[in-house]
Amino acid sequence: MRKDLVQIVCCPVHKTALKLDATKLDDHGDILEGTLRCATCRFDYPIEGGIPNLLPPEYHVDEVKAKKVAGEKPKGKVAKEDPAPKPAKPSKPTKAAKAAKGAK
Ligand SMILES: [Zn+2]
Repeated sequence: MRKDLVQIVCCPVHKTALKLDATKLDDHGDILEGTLRCATCRFDYPIEGGIPNLLPPEYHVDEVKAKKVAGEKPKGKVAKEDPAPKPAKPSKPTKAAKAAKGAK
């Protein structure tokens, strides 16, 4: 996207200006990758492949989820509360299976 578009776009939720943080420019100085940060909610709208993704934060569910998961790593606390292990099925090979093995 072109840099001067930054003056036009705004946060879809707050209608406030976005602060551009470009990480990759093309030969013309157009933005290929970066983020547009809302000054109000501090949400970073990603720019990928030169296209700003200005969907409201609730549509960026995957990213939010990923961040949450990364921040809430269960560290063995829950492991002790595992449900009783399922009764292990004795996996005796059937006669047929044995026969097939033996045949080879
Ligand atoms: Zn906002």
